[in-house]
Amino acid sequence: MTSIETIRHSLSHILAAAVQELYPGTKFGMGPAIEDGFYYDFKLSENLTPEALPKIEKRMKEIIRRGIAFKKKIIAKSEAKKIFKNQPYKLEIIKDLPGSKITIYESGTFIDLCKGPHVKSSKEITEGSFKLKKIAGAYWKGSEKNAMLTRIYGIAFEDKKHLEEHLKKEAEAEKRDHRILGQKLELFLFDEEVGAGLPLWQPKGATLRKTIEDYLYRELISQGYQWLVTPHIGKLDLWKTSGHWELYRENMYSPFGIDEEEYMLKPMNCPFHVKIYNSKIRSYKDLPVRYAELGTVYRYERSGVLHGLTRVRGFTQDDAHIICTPEQLSQEVTNLLKAGFKILKTFGFKDYEIYLSTRPEKYAGNSKEWEKATNVLKYALQKLKLKWQVDPRGGVFYGPKIDIKIKDSLGRPWQCTTIQIDFNLPERFNLTFIDRKGKKQRPFMVHRALLGSLERFIGVLIEHYAGAFPLWLSPVQVWIIPIGKKHEKYADQIGKELSAAGFRIEVKKENETLSKKIRNGEIQKIPYLLVVGDAEMKKKTVRVRERNKGDLGEIKIDKFIKSQKNC
Ligand SMILES: [Zn+2]
Ligand SMILES: [Zn+2]
Repeated sequence: MTSIETIRHSLSHILAAAVQELYPGTKFGMGPAIEDGFYYDFKLSENLTPEALPKIEKRMKEIIRRGIAFKKKIIAKSEAKKIFKNQPYKLEIIKDLPGSKITIYESGTFIDLCKGPHVKSSKEITEGSFKLKKIAGAYWKGSEKNAMLTRIYGIAFEDKKHLEEHLKKEAEAEKRDHRILGQKLELFLFDEEVGAGLPLWQPKGATLRKTIEDYLYRELISQGYQWLVTPHIGKLDLWKTSGHWELYRENMYSPFGIDEEEYMLKPMNCPFHVKIYNSKIRSYKDLPVRYAELGTVYRYERSGVLHGLTRVRGFTQDDAHIICTPEQLSQEVTNLLKAGFKILKTFGFKDYEIYLSTRPEKYAGNSKEWEKATNVLKYALQKLKLKWQVDPRGGVFYGPKIDIKIKDSLGRPWQCTTIQIDFNLPERFNLTFIDRKGKKQRPFMVHRALLGSLERFIGVLIEHYAGAFPLWLSPVQVWIIPIGKKHEKYADQIGKELSAAGFRIEVKKENETLSKKIRNGEIQKIPYLLVVGDAEMKKKTVRVRERNKGDLGEIKIDKFIKSQKNC
């Protein structure tokens, strides 16, 4: 059976063939299969708008119906240069290809440089199994120094049914897009004058964030962590010692001068934590040391990859470093996993993908240490009876790691938790502890982030819940809606009682109808709307409307407060 990748790839040729027929003189870039579909890059003499897509799609269907064959030919490089003499991008590829022979494919009147594989005939492609999706600009070979080409994206599946399922899922994902919901619910915004990839947290978003921070603080302190706060910048020399300047520079911003010295925005918190550890002599009795910080770091991301809160240039990691004796490592990793799952569950995530990444080609430390540390990670996963996959050679250069991807309500995986053993920093910063025999020893160091970054995690939370957060996370938990002017005083009084009980509330005194206020409350995804009028005022009650459930009837206010133990 023809693989879906082969079909997707063949469709990219058919797309190019359709464009060739409709827009003579087009120069062709490249057209691979990608996840869920395919694309092709073109240099066109006119500007394409999305309105052109149905026309191109229609032509593709015509070409498919013609039943054209994909014919493979191996020709001399010199001949290829003749065939593609009017195709500058193809000539560039030919020039870069090794050897003297070139493989080309003919499909109808369209000829392309390609190794295949393709379908034998376009008839293998099911009618209605693909769709052109969008047009985007793309630099030739991905470099900003090159010409901007027009990229047409398509999606393709085994059959019409699978395509429709995908489109449905996509529409659902669109409704949950955190960038749109973030604006609608007034959680965060981006401002061109502030800069790309730098979110501004509005009051409601900042409240959500603070709720998460407070929960993390309480949870980690109860697990024996010590809280740290460290600066956003540090001297360039520090990053030279840590190795980041040497190995991580492409992700860092340029150094800047303060007085006569060079400083960097921090891309990581680790060196600061290490300095605090090294500020005094540590005995085995002091270990394990568990340092936690909500550390804001800055990493360079190209503007093209920035994406709402999930890909930003400044973000706050829920970072921690555990420094322990070799004997303690296994227990610490087990604890980390347990604590991680507990915290993720509190946020409503129950499905995970777990990866164990082993030694890459280039690595710090020696292979024996790596084996031992990898076994420690494996042992912890086994002990907790977790299912995991090995990501062979996927470790970072300084040590093996466990990564946990959480699955959201649409089943999409998001990289979240990471637990990494580090052989590099303890060496570079000469970390030691005094063992039982009074001898200096090198401790183990573990980096870990449970949520990853607050920005990314909140982006995922918004999409997971489609903005309808559980009560404890909702920035505004209760609206009190007075029916008329004369009920406002009573509404204020209810508001005071709820605030005193720890609820985040708003009293809605806007000059709007009751039904409009209720509708707005639903749009804003407020968990509870409490309506108060004559009857409620008289009986000292509220009329409760719960999100997604509607009217729950009248209830005494203290009874309502008691029924919400989560607050
Ligand atoms: Zn091909
Ligand atoms: Zn670290």
